[in-house]
This record gives sequence, C-alpha cells and structure tokens, in this order.
Amino acid sequence: MNGDPSTHRRLEGVLARIRAACTDCGRDPASVRLLAVSKTFGADAVRSLAVQGQDCFGENYLQEALAKQQALADLDLEWHFIGPIQSNKTRPIAESFHWVHTVDRLKIADRLSAQRPRSSSPLQVLVQVNIDDESSKHGCTPAEAPALANAVAALPGLELRGLMAIPAPTAEPAGAAPAFEAMARLAGEIRSSLPPGRAQRFDQLSMGMSADLEVAIRAGATIVRVGTALFGSRPARDDG
Ligand SMILES: *Cc1c(COP(=O)(O)O)cnc(C)c1O
Repeated sequence: MNGDPSTHRRLEGVLARIRAACTDCGRDPASVRLLAVSKTFGADAVRSLAVQGQDCFGENYLQEALAKQQALADLDLEWHFIGPIQSNKTRPIAESFHWVHTVDRLKIADRLSAQRPRSSSPLQVLVQVNIDDESSKHGCTPAEAPALANAVAALPGLELRGLMAIPAPTAEPAGAAPAFEAMARLAGEIRSSLPPGRAQRFDQLSMGMSADLEVAIRAGATIVRVGTALFGSRPARDDG
C-alpha cells in the first residue's frame, strides 16, 4: 500500500485545512502539528501515511498499538497514547510511547514516571481536562487541573507539555469554540503557576479533531488529532 494515492490526497487535504485555518487567524502553520489517529486501522494504513511524510501517530488501544509499533519498527515514528489509561497498563505505555495525552490523575502520572525507562528521555505528557462534558468520566476537572499539572511537572520521568481536551459533541463544529477557548485560558493560568523552568516547556494544547480542527486552531490548538479525515470512518467500538 506504499504511496496509496487516496491516502496521499487525504493527507494533503488535511494539511491544507490546517494551513488555511492558520492563515485565517494569523498563526504560523508550523505552530500546529497534525497527529494522525490510527486506532482501528492496520500497520499498512500507518505505513502508507508515513511514506508521505507523516511521522506522528495517535493510538487509543494498547495491545493494538504495540502490535503496530512492532510491525513498523523499521520506521522512525513518534507514538502518542491518547486513550483512557488503566493503572495496570501504565508500564507498557511508559516503555513504548513518546507522548501521553490522557493523564488525568496523579496515580497514573506517578506510575508512568516511575516506569519510564531511565535510558529514555522523559515521557512527554499532557493533562487531560474534562472541559465541559459532565457525563464523561475521563479528564480532571478544570478546577483540579492546576494542582495536577504542578504535581506532574515535578515528576522526574515525565515532562509536562500542556493540556488536552475532548469537548462534548456539538451540533455544529463552531459550537466547540467556547470549550476550546476555555482550554486556552486554563492553559495560560497554569503556565503562570508553574516554576519558570517548567513553564517554558508547557506550550502544547491538544484539541480539535476531523470535524472541528479549524475551530480548535483559531482558539490556539498546537496539536490536532485527526482520524476519520485521514483514514476514513471507523467501525464503532465500545470500550473507551
Ligand atoms: C478517535 C480520536 C480522535 C480522532 O477523531 P476523528 O473524529 O476521527 O478525527 C481524536 N482524539 C481522540 C482522543 C480520539 O479517541
């Protein structure tokens, strides 16, 4: 599947959307990174995007991700864990990923830090905030985020890089704007509460998906997590 033309077209389309959104709001397109969310798609699909130059991939399901990493070990890819984390799964995450977007409690952060191999650079971590979806069990509350972020920033095996959110679904993409803007404000507050050496590296906001990446970029997203627009629609899966 190397060089699959439809993959190429979809990737170019998403990159064009990112550039256009940046132009619209006066941001440098280089300030926004595309994370390709490859959950449920196979190693071949990842490889065909990788040969087009896409180098970072997001995965939600640990076993599936580890199998893909093994199948793609010949490529120099950056892997981001973006699924809910059970505390008995932290070790392979700490060992096999470069980034984790879904740290929402200190227990998980402590384990990831302790289990990060000494030979690896610190795991790049985002604190997941449940910005507006009271029905979701994932993410800390906005009120808890500053203390959690400060505690995570102090852990030796981790480097705190910013915040991540999955706002509640809205009828129109623009409906997510208030949640994205609230995330940007919260990130600013947290940045000013961190010790100077830590604040500098707290520079990432992971938000925006296939439907609403433009809205997220306008609010300050630095990482957009895009699955469907790159790989096509996924079969429903019910274990998140
Ligand atoms: C699946 C998933 C995405 C990608 O969503 P699309 O709408 O397919 O772009 C982004 N972020 C997280 C956390 C996901 O689980």
